[in-house]
Amino acid sequence: MGIPTRIRVSSAAAQAERYDGGLPLKSLPRLAGLLADVGGALEVSLQAQMREGHAALQGSLGGSLTLACKRCGKSYAWPLETEVDWRLVADEASERALMQEFEPLLVEDDELQLREAIEDEVLLCLPMLPRCESCENMVASQPEAAAPVEEEPRRENPFAALKKQLKSD
Ligand SMILES: [Zn+2]
Repeated sequence: MGIPTRIRVSSAAAQAERYDGGLPLKSLPRLAGLLADVGGALEVSLQAQMREGHAALQGSLGGSLTLACKRCGKSYAWPLETEVDWRLVADEASERALMQEFEPLLVEDDELQLREAIEDEVLLCLPMLPRCESCENMVASQPEAAAPVEEEPRRENPFAALKKQLKSD
């Protein structure tokens, strides 16, 4: 089966549903907006099951994403490979309790927006300052070359910031 837009958490876990397949990059608008090329797909492999009394989704997300180098503007392939270990929780108390060990996702009305959750995860993985290999090597050998032509605005990934904030609460 493909990757559904949303899943019913309780039945997905009870039936140990598995989601394997390609998710076209074009179908993920927030991610697509950051890519130099939206051809291709994410490779998704997720297993739903019950874990320690909570519904869980575990597996991996991968693929080759095309990013634009911030320094020279060249497009380059950036390999994505990340493990996912989500616990799907219905209330904030459970979310806090699990936060130290797992990645809790708050789910409303037993429904998870699966594609959105996948997209969020990939956005978190993207490099803040994408650089192609030759620019990366150049910067490593002469750090002063890292200074871009125009001033680079220092901004934190909004999702990383949100996560940090949730963890420190
Ligand atoms: Zn470059």
